[in-house]
Amino acid sequence: MNKDQLKKGLTAIKGTRDILPEEAQLWQIVEAMAKSIFELYAYRELRAPVIEPTELFEKGTGASSDIVTKEMYTFNDKGGRSVTLRPEYTPSVVRAIIEHRLDLQGFPLRFYYIGPMFRYDRPQKGRYRQFHQIDVEVFGEKDPAVDAEIVEMAHRLLNKLGVGNVMTLVNSVGCKSCRPTYGQALRKVALESLDKLCPDCQRKAELNPLRIFDCKLETCQKTASTFPLITDFLCAECREHFEKFLSYLDFYGISYKIEPTLVRGLDYYTKTAFEIVTGDLGSQNAICGGGRYDDMVKEFGGPELCGIGFAMGLERLLSVAKISPARKNFVYFAYMGEEAKKESLRVARYLRSKGIECLVEFKDRGLKAHFSRANKIGANWVLIIGEDELSQGKLQIKDMVTSKQHQGTAEELARILTDKRSQ
Ligand SMILES: [Zn+2]
Ligand SMILES: [Zn+2]
Repeated sequence: MNKDQLKKGLTAIKGTRDILPEEAQLWQIVEAMAKSIFELYAYRELRAPVIEPTELFEKGTGASSDIVTKEMYTFNDKGGRSVTLRPEYTPSVVRAIIEHRLDLQGFPLRFYYIGPMFRYDRPQKGRYRQFHQIDVEVFGEKDPAVDAEIVEMAHRLLNKLGVGNVMTLVNSVGCKSCRPTYGQALRKVALESLDKLCPDCQRKAELNPLRIFDCKLETCQKTASTFPLITDFLCAECREHFEKFLSYLDFYGISYKIEPTLVRGLDYYTKTAFEIVTGDLGSQNAICGGGRYDDMVKEFGGPELCGIGFAMGLERLLSVAKISPARKNFVYFAYMGEEAKKESLRVARYLRSKGIECLVEFKDRGLKAHFSRANKIGANWVLIIGEDELSQGKLQIKDMVTSKQHQGTAEELARILTDKRSQ
């Protein structure tokens, strides 16, 4: 490879991107907030590998889903095995539960995870092949109260992140006993209206007519609006579950809209399906989507264990979150000379032990250059160590916002800095 080729090759892979430090600090705020909220509900982090056997998603996500048919990031490894970069998280959690028999260990089966997912679709504005999700899953809780609780938990996070204009859309997609009847009725109507559907939906009409409701084309949506609705086909158990779910949402004071065409893009949902949308997002307005998947663990060869969960797209969440990074005691060291440099190292070591962020750069600079450097990088404080400070055994620190100066020993300054931080 010559130099030019190398240069050309040294960019991020199509559909992926770098999250540079300035942006990454916003990600850290959102991630930390999500973790702390989930832990308030006794959820624990479960980290599964990014890469899984392809069958996991063919089985879990459903062979007829758009993800599996069009969007999987699949390749053969050197051993000739087909592997897939996970397109979603739920199948991995289910696999982990079965593999480690977590259901037998007696701990709450409440998990969260934050990390990258991969879909090999055509990269377009705002959509990436590597994207990121916040994911939450609960297992072994049949009660519709848990369906409402995870919706409430999602709202708590969105509220904390300042996401406004939110609305919750809810539906029941039925279960093994009532959905087939609905599916038949739907298939019949869909096959009768083939000429009014796009080629993609024509294919879905036979394979999985429910998915036609997901089509974004106006003509298909118009046609689908005449189709029968699942709500009229629910069995007594599904109906009762749905009604109770709604009554718990009322209990929490969460306003919702019943959306009978909300089926979500996955095969495995049963009963509850929901989406939280925000008016701040434009047309692609879903910020959180989830639902119940009561048969999935069993279908994977595991125990009879119902499940429910949701995912939030981090990129979308960040585009509407109202947060700002706050560094409150970032101290830049302005030192002059070799002896002051050593003193800086000693003081920085002490301040760091008190939880104060210190930057000592190893460049010879004059006082003026030090200050313009501190300004440029957004330091809150400049700690000055020159000959005078060394001879007096006192340090000087300048507040870069108020321009106020303080003098004192490292211990005294640490107190000032930590006081300021807690304000
Ligand atoms: Zn049912
Ligand atoms: Zn269509």
